[in-house]
Amino acid sequence: MELWYTEEHTDDVHFSIKVDRLLYSGESELQRIDVFHSKEFGRFLTLDGLMMLTEKDEFIYHDMIVHVPMATNPDIEKVLVIGGGDGGTVRELTRYQTIKKIDMVEIDEKVVEVCRSYLPQTAEKLDDPRVELFFEDGLKFVRKKKDEYHLIIVDSTDPFGPGEGLFTKEFYGNCYKALKEDGILVNQHESPYYFNYANSMRRAHGRIKEVFPICKVYQAHIPTYPSGHWLFGFASKTFDPIEDLKEDRWNSLDLKTKYYNTELHKGSFALPNYVKELLESEDE
Ligand code: SAM
Repeated sequence: MELWYTEEHTDDVHFSIKVDRLLYSGESELQRIDVFHSKEFGRFLTLDGLMMLTEKDEFIYHDMIVHVPMATNPDIEKVLVIGGGDGGTVRELTRYQTIKKIDMVEIDEKVVEVCRSYLPQTAEKLDDPRVELFFEDGLKFVRKKKDEYHLIIVDSTDPFGPGEGLFTKEFYGNCYKALKEDGILVNQHESPYYFNYANSMRRAHGRIKEVFPICKVYQAHIPTYPSGHWLFGFASKTFDPIEDLKEDRWNSLDLKTKYYNTELHKGSFALPNYVKELLESEDE
Protein backbone atom coordinates (compact mmCIF):
# COMPACT_ATOMS: atom_id res chain seq x y z
CA MET A 1 0.00 0.00 0.00
CA GLU A 2 1.27 3.48 -0.84
CA LEU A 3 0.46 6.55 1.24
CA TRP A 4 0.55 9.99 -0.43
CA TYR A 5 0.09 13.53 0.93
CA THR A 6 -1.74 15.55 -1.72
CA GLU A 7 -2.24 19.30 -1.65
CA GLU A 8 -4.50 21.20 -4.03
CA HIS A 9 -2.46 24.03 -5.50
CA THR A 10 -5.39 24.93 -7.76
CA ASP A 11 -8.65 23.14 -8.59
CA ASP A 12 -6.77 21.52 -11.48
CA VAL A 13 -3.27 21.10 -10.08
CA HIS A 14 -2.34 18.74 -7.25
CA PHE A 15 1.07 18.32 -5.63
CA SER A 16 1.85 14.97 -3.97
CA ILE A 17 4.60 13.61 -1.74
CA LYS A 18 4.96 9.92 -0.99
CA VAL A 19 4.74 9.46 2.77
CA ASP A 20 6.27 6.66 4.85
CA ARG A 21 4.63 7.58 8.13
CA LEU A 22 2.14 9.91 9.72
CA LEU A 23 3.94 11.08 12.88
CA TYR A 24 1.25 13.32 14.36
CA SER A 25 -2.29 14.34 13.55
CA GLY A 26 -4.45 16.55 15.72
CA GLU A 27 -6.73 19.55 15.87
CA SER A 28 -6.19 22.71 17.84
CA GLU A 29 -9.03 25.19 18.37
CA LEU A 30 -7.92 26.94 15.18
CA GLN A 31 -6.63 24.39 12.72
CA ARG A 32 -5.73 20.84 11.84
CA ILE A 33 -2.06 20.02 12.43
CA ASP A 34 -0.23 17.11 10.76
CA VAL A 35 3.39 15.99 10.71
CA PHE A 36 4.48 13.39 8.17
CA HIS A 37 7.74 11.67 7.30
CA SER A 38 8.76 11.23 3.69
CA LYS A 39 11.85 9.83 2.03
CA GLU A 40 12.38 12.82 -0.26
CA PHE A 41 11.69 15.77 2.09
CA GLY A 42 12.19 14.27 5.56
CA ARG A 43 9.62 15.43 8.12
CA PHE A 44 7.06 17.99 7.06
CA LEU A 45 4.38 20.07 8.78
CA THR A 46 1.01 20.93 7.29
CA LEU A 47 -1.74 23.14 8.73
CA ASP A 48 -5.27 22.61 7.44
CA GLY A 49 -3.77 20.56 4.60
CA LEU A 50 -1.35 23.28 3.47
CA MET A 51 2.41 22.83 3.46
CA MET A 52 4.25 24.92 6.08
CA LEU A 53 7.73 23.47 5.88
CA THR A 54 9.78 20.40 5.11
CA GLU A 55 13.10 19.48 6.69
CA LYS A 56 14.69 19.40 3.24
CA ASP A 57 13.80 22.85 1.91
CA GLU A 58 13.01 24.99 4.99
CA PHE A 59 16.52 26.50 4.86
CA ILE A 60 15.57 28.44 1.73
CA TYR A 61 12.54 30.15 3.27
CA HIS A 62 14.18 30.85 6.64
CA ASP A 63 17.44 32.13 5.14
CA MET A 64 15.57 34.53 2.91
CA ILE A 65 13.09 35.82 5.46
CA VAL A 66 15.86 36.56 8.02
CA HIS A 67 19.20 37.30 6.34
CA VAL A 68 17.89 39.78 3.76
CA PRO A 69 16.78 42.32 6.40
CA MET A 70 19.70 41.51 8.72
CA ALA A 71 22.28 42.18 5.98
CA THR A 72 20.51 45.44 5.15
CA ASN A 73 20.70 46.59 8.77
CA PRO A 74 23.14 44.52 10.86
CA ASP A 75 22.47 46.86 13.83
CA ILE A 76 19.02 45.37 14.41
CA GLU A 77 18.60 44.61 18.12
CA LYS A 78 14.89 44.07 18.76
CA VAL A 79 12.77 41.84 16.54
CA LEU A 80 9.11 40.81 16.44
CA VAL A 81 8.18 37.56 14.68
CA ILE A 82 4.48 37.13 13.93
CA GLY A 83 3.44 33.50 13.37
CA GLY A 84 6.52 31.33 12.82
CA GLY A 85 5.40 28.64 15.31
CA ASP A 86 7.81 26.09 13.83
CA GLY A 87 10.74 28.16 15.16
CA GLY A 88 12.79 28.30 11.92
CA THR A 89 12.77 32.10 11.72
CA VAL A 90 13.74 32.41 15.39
CA ARG A 91 16.54 29.86 14.87
CA GLU A 92 18.13 31.98 12.14
CA LEU A 93 17.70 35.21 14.15
CA THR A 94 19.43 33.74 17.22
CA ARG A 95 22.61 33.31 15.14
CA TYR A 96 23.17 37.08 15.41
CA GLN A 97 24.88 37.89 18.71
CA THR A 98 23.92 41.54 18.16
CA ILE A 99 20.20 40.79 18.49
CA LYS A 100 19.17 41.42 22.09
CA LYS A 101 15.45 40.51 22.13
CA ILE A 102 13.12 38.45 19.95
CA ASP A 103 9.39 38.50 20.64
CA MET A 104 7.43 35.80 18.83
CA VAL A 105 3.64 36.03 18.67
CA GLU A 106 2.04 32.79 17.55
CA ILE A 107 -1.75 32.49 17.62
CA ASP A 108 -1.71 28.72 18.10
CA GLU A 109 0.26 27.33 21.06
CA LYS A 110 -0.40 23.80 19.83
CA VAL A 111 1.73 24.42 16.69
CA VAL A 112 4.71 25.27 18.90
CA GLU A 113 4.09 22.23 21.12
CA VAL A 114 3.92 19.89 18.11
CA CYS A 115 7.02 21.43 16.49
CA ARG A 116 9.01 21.13 19.70
CA SER A 117 8.17 17.40 19.77
CA TYR A 118 8.41 16.52 16.08
CA LEU A 119 10.48 19.22 14.36
CA PRO A 120 13.53 19.93 16.54
CA GLN A 121 15.43 21.02 13.41
CA THR A 122 13.43 24.26 13.35
CA ALA A 123 12.22 24.50 16.98
CA GLU A 124 15.67 24.07 18.57
CA LYS A 125 16.25 27.73 19.48
CA LEU A 126 12.84 28.63 20.87
CA ASP A 127 14.33 28.37 24.36
CA ASP A 128 17.12 30.87 23.69
CA PRO A 129 17.05 33.34 26.62
CA ARG A 130 16.52 36.29 24.24
CA VAL A 131 13.27 34.77 22.95
CA GLU A 132 9.89 35.55 24.53
CA LEU A 133 6.83 33.69 23.28
CA PHE A 134 3.34 35.19 23.26
CA PHE A 135 0.33 33.07 22.33
CA GLU A 136 -2.14 35.50 20.86
CA ASP A 137 -3.31 37.04 17.61
CA GLY A 138 -0.47 38.99 15.97
CA LEU A 139 -3.00 41.48 14.64
CA LYS A 140 -4.06 42.44 18.17
CA PHE A 141 -0.51 42.27 19.55
CA VAL A 142 0.90 44.93 17.20
CA ARG A 143 -2.01 47.30 17.89
CA LYS A 144 -0.53 47.83 21.39
CA LYS A 145 3.03 48.57 20.20
CA LYS A 146 4.66 51.85 19.32
CA ASP A 147 8.22 52.67 18.21
CA GLU A 148 9.53 49.43 19.65
CA TYR A 149 11.07 47.13 17.00
CA HIS A 150 13.86 47.43 14.45
CA LEU A 151 12.46 44.52 12.48
CA ILE A 152 9.08 42.80 12.18
CA ILE A 153 8.95 39.47 10.33
CA VAL A 154 5.51 38.19 9.34
CA ASP A 155 5.97 34.43 9.03
CA SER A 156 2.31 33.63 8.64
CA THR A 157 -0.05 31.19 7.01
CA ASP A 158 -1.95 32.22 3.87
CA PRO A 159 -4.53 35.04 3.94
CA PHE A 160 -7.49 32.95 5.06
CA GLY A 161 -8.40 31.52 8.47
CA PRO A 162 -6.27 32.86 11.34
CA GLY A 163 -3.75 34.46 8.94
CA GLU A 164 -6.29 36.67 7.15
CA GLY A 165 -5.88 39.72 9.38
CA LEU A 166 -2.12 39.73 8.75
CA PHE A 167 -2.70 40.85 5.16
CA THR A 168 -4.87 43.91 5.93
CA LYS A 169 -4.04 47.60 5.65
CA GLU A 170 -4.87 48.05 9.33
CA PHE A 171 -2.21 45.47 10.22
CA TYR A 172 0.48 47.04 8.02
CA GLY A 173 -0.35 50.46 9.50
CA ASN A 174 0.08 49.06 13.00
CA CYS A 175 3.38 47.45 12.01
CA TYR A 176 4.56 50.87 10.77
CA LYS A 177 3.67 52.36 14.14
CA ALA A 178 5.31 49.48 16.07
CA LEU A 179 8.57 49.95 14.17
CA LYS A 180 11.31 52.38 15.13
CA GLU A 181 12.14 55.17 12.70
CA ASP A 182 14.61 52.98 10.79
CA GLY A 183 12.37 49.89 11.02
CA ILE A 184 11.98 47.10 8.44
CA LEU A 185 8.96 44.87 7.80
CA VAL A 186 9.48 41.57 5.96
CA ASN A 187 6.60 39.27 5.15
CA GLN A 188 5.96 36.06 3.29
CA HIS A 189 4.32 37.39 0.18
CA GLU A 190 2.70 34.37 -1.52
CA SER A 191 3.37 33.20 -5.08
CA PRO A 192 2.94 35.16 -8.30
CA TYR A 193 2.17 32.13 -10.43
CA TYR A 194 -1.30 30.70 -9.77
CA PHE A 195 -4.22 33.10 -9.95
CA ASN A 196 -5.45 32.93 -6.33
CA TYR A 197 -1.99 33.27 -4.84
CA ALA A 198 -1.06 36.03 -7.30
CA ASN A 199 -4.15 37.98 -6.32
CA SER A 200 -3.30 37.75 -2.61
CA MET A 201 0.23 38.86 -3.34
CA ARG A 202 -0.89 41.83 -5.43
CA ARG A 203 -3.42 42.92 -2.84
CA ALA A 204 -0.86 42.67 -0.01
CA HIS A 205 1.70 44.64 -2.01
CA GLY A 206 -0.81 47.40 -2.81
CA ARG A 207 -1.68 47.77 0.87
CA ILE A 208 1.94 47.80 2.10
CA LYS A 209 2.78 50.42 -0.54
CA GLU A 210 0.14 52.73 0.89
CA VAL A 211 1.84 52.62 4.28
CA PHE A 212 5.63 52.37 3.75
CA PRO A 213 7.79 54.74 1.67
CA ILE A 214 10.12 51.92 0.57
CA CYS A 215 8.40 48.79 -0.61
CA LYS A 216 10.16 46.05 -2.61
CA VAL A 217 9.58 42.39 -3.41
CA TYR A 218 12.15 39.61 -3.65
CA GLN A 219 11.96 35.99 -4.67
CA ALA A 220 13.20 32.50 -3.89
CA HIS A 221 12.67 29.03 -5.23
CA ILE A 222 10.90 26.87 -2.64
CA PRO A 223 10.17 23.45 -4.16
CA THR A 224 7.29 22.45 -1.88
CA TYR A 225 5.26 25.69 -2.08
CA PRO A 226 2.66 26.18 -4.82
CA SER A 227 4.48 26.57 -8.17
CA GLY A 228 7.84 26.64 -6.31
CA HIS A 229 8.15 30.37 -7.01
CA TRP A 230 7.75 32.30 -3.78
CA LEU A 231 7.93 35.98 -2.93
CA PHE A 232 8.83 38.01 0.15
CA GLY A 233 7.94 41.63 0.81
CA PHE A 234 10.54 44.11 2.11
CA ALA A 235 9.08 47.37 3.40
CA SER A 236 10.94 50.01 5.30
CA LYS A 237 10.91 53.54 6.64
CA THR A 238 14.49 54.34 5.55
CA PHE A 239 16.53 51.36 4.30
CA ASP A 240 16.69 50.32 0.67
CA PRO A 241 17.54 46.60 0.58
CA ILE A 242 20.03 46.96 -2.27
CA GLU A 243 21.52 50.45 -1.85
CA ASP A 244 21.91 49.96 1.89
CA LEU A 245 23.10 46.35 1.81
CA LYS A 246 26.08 46.02 4.19
CA GLU A 247 27.81 43.39 2.14
CA ASP A 248 31.24 43.48 3.78
CA ARG A 249 29.84 43.68 7.28
CA TRP A 250 27.52 40.74 6.73
CA ASN A 251 30.26 38.65 5.11
CA SER A 252 32.64 39.43 7.97
CA LEU A 253 30.19 37.75 10.37
CA ASP A 254 31.12 34.50 8.63
CA LEU A 255 27.71 32.90 9.16
CA LYS A 256 27.41 29.63 7.26
CA THR A 257 24.23 29.72 5.20
CA LYS A 258 23.07 27.08 2.77
CA TYR A 259 21.01 29.37 0.51
CA TYR A 260 21.59 33.04 1.26
CA ASN A 261 24.63 35.02 0.14
CA THR A 262 25.03 38.71 -0.57
CA GLU A 263 25.19 38.20 -4.36
CA LEU A 264 21.90 36.33 -4.21
CA HIS A 265 20.53 39.10 -1.97
CA LYS A 266 20.95 41.62 -4.79
CA GLY A 267 19.79 39.22 -7.48
CA SER A 268 16.64 38.17 -5.62
CA PHE A 269 15.15 41.66 -6.10
CA ALA A 270 15.40 41.33 -9.92
CA LEU A 271 11.90 40.16 -10.81
CA PRO A 272 10.47 38.62 -13.99
CA ASN A 273 8.45 41.03 -16.14
CA TYR A 274 5.12 39.32 -15.48
CA VAL A 275 5.67 39.67 -11.73
CA LYS A 276 6.58 43.36 -12.09
CA GLU A 277 3.41 43.91 -14.11
CA LEU A 278 1.31 42.13 -11.51
CA LEU A 279 2.79 44.25 -8.73
CA GLU A 280 2.15 47.46 -10.65
CA SER A 281 -1.39 46.54 -11.69
CA GLU A 282 -4.45 47.89 -9.92
CA ASP A 283 -6.00 45.94 -7.04
CA GLU A 284 -9.09 44.08 -8.28
N1 SAM B 1 6.65 29.04 6.50
C1 SAM B 1 5.26 28.96 6.53
C2 SAM B 1 4.54 29.24 5.26
O1 SAM B 1 4.73 30.29 4.64
O2 SAM B 1 3.76 28.39 4.86
C3 SAM B 1 4.66 29.63 7.71
C4 SAM B 1 4.99 28.79 8.88
S1 SAM B 1 4.37 29.17 10.43
C5 SAM B 1 3.98 27.52 10.97
C6 SAM B 1 2.85 30.01 10.24
C7 SAM B 1 2.19 30.24 11.59
O3 SAM B 1 1.43 31.45 11.56
C8 SAM B 1 1.22 29.13 12.02
O4 SAM B 1 1.77 28.42 13.08
C9 SAM B 1 -0.05 29.88 12.44
O5 SAM B 1 -0.66 29.36 13.58
C10 SAM B 1 0.48 31.30 12.63
N2 SAM B 1 -0.53 32.35 12.50
C11 SAM B 1 -1.55 32.41 11.60
N3 SAM B 1 -2.30 33.50 11.83
C12 SAM B 1 -1.73 34.16 12.88
C13 SAM B 1 -2.05 35.36 13.58
N4 SAM B 1 -3.12 36.08 13.25
N5 SAM B 1 -1.25 35.73 14.61
C14 SAM B 1 -0.16 34.98 14.96
N6 SAM B 1 0.17 33.84 14.34
C15 SAM B 1 -0.60 33.43 13.31
